[in-house]
Amino acid sequence: MSVVNWKDFPQVELGFFPTPIHPLPVISQSLPGVSLWVKRDDQTGLAFGGNKTRKLQFLVGRAIEEECDCLVTAGALQSNHCRQTAAAGAKARLPVHLVLGGTPPDSRPGNLLLDELLGATLHFAGEKRKGETIPALIESLKNEGLNPCHIPYGGSNPVGAAGFALAFFELLEQCQKIGLVVDNLVFPSSSGGTHAGLMVGKALSGSPIRLVGIAVDKEDFKGEGLEVKIADLAGQTAEWLGHPHPFSPKEVFLEKSALGAGYGVMNGDDKRAIHTFAKGEGLFLDPVYTGRAAAGLFKMVERGDISEGSTVLFWHTGGTPSLFHYGEDLLSEEIQP
Ligand SMILES: *Cc1c(COP(=O)(O)O)cnc(C)c1O
Repeated sequence: MSVVNWKDFPQVELGFFPTPIHPLPVISQSLPGVSLWVKRDDQTGLAFGGNKTRKLQFLVGRAIEEECDCLVTAGALQSNHCRQTAAAGAKARLPVHLVLGGTPPDSRPGNLLLDELLGATLHFAGEKRKGETIPALIESLKNEGLNPCHIPYGGSNPVGAAGFALAFFELLEQCQKIGLVVDNLVFPSSSGGTHAGLMVGKALSGSPIRLVGIAVDKEDFKGEGLEVKIADLAGQTAEWLGHPHPFSPKEVFLEKSALGAGYGVMNGDDKRAIHTFAKGEGLFLDPVYTGRAAAGLFKMVERGDISEGSTVLFWHTGGTPSLFHYGEDLLSEEIQP
């Protein structure tokens, strides 16, 4: 079905694909006229799963092709991308250096614990959670005679985003098999690789599915704006895959009503969405990405921006280990506005 010759792009197998899709009947009942389904990328199978597995299959494939002997990447203290990269490096026998925002904490719950179990070397970068200090680290690794592969923040370059172009074709095939017609595809959007990759898959397949990215990070809108970044990345990804295609920032739909107080600051809506999925469907969302994306989805349905009679597929991008970082805040009765 796909026009891309995927064999031309080296991949290492890190997870189990396709990830399942299934309906969410209980939550659907509370959404007027909407039929809600979920795609389970929290079940990719690599170290508690997540959307980064798909990017890393291509990113590590390329690192090996380029004869790199270690991986370097960056993220927030509770970065899922860093945890997944640590796991990918362990499987590929490549040492991993993680540059994490913040200072070494007294206790290390959630992803930090897992990063250490996976054997990654942790570097703490204070306020700089997006890899600003990486060039200096790369320099020093090179001086030691190593050939480091720099995996960008969120794994979002054309090589990584290609994983989500492929994922879009995976979804189309699944839908075709079970006769499911998806109208809206809803997912959290942050460093943009997921969004850009899905846009490329949509463009190359000619699918009419509407892509609805739910923004989770205010910082992403400084400077030129996330829409420009995503459109640029989609263009570069299509070119990398051998099928150049123009993308305009106007085609990038981002729902920004769920941003709250910013990245990783859980608010009442995020928390309510997490409780709704857990109690209604026995399914865990995370406090930073998928909880917020579900909150954004609920707001859109309430406002009528997702119309009655439509089928919505919610792409669960993972992130659940950070539930254990937020701990009992998730249970506190007092839900901040
Ligand atoms: C990284 C991440 C996202 C965002 O994906 P981008 O490609 O960075 O936009 C969404 N959900 C989870 C759980 C993530 O770890």
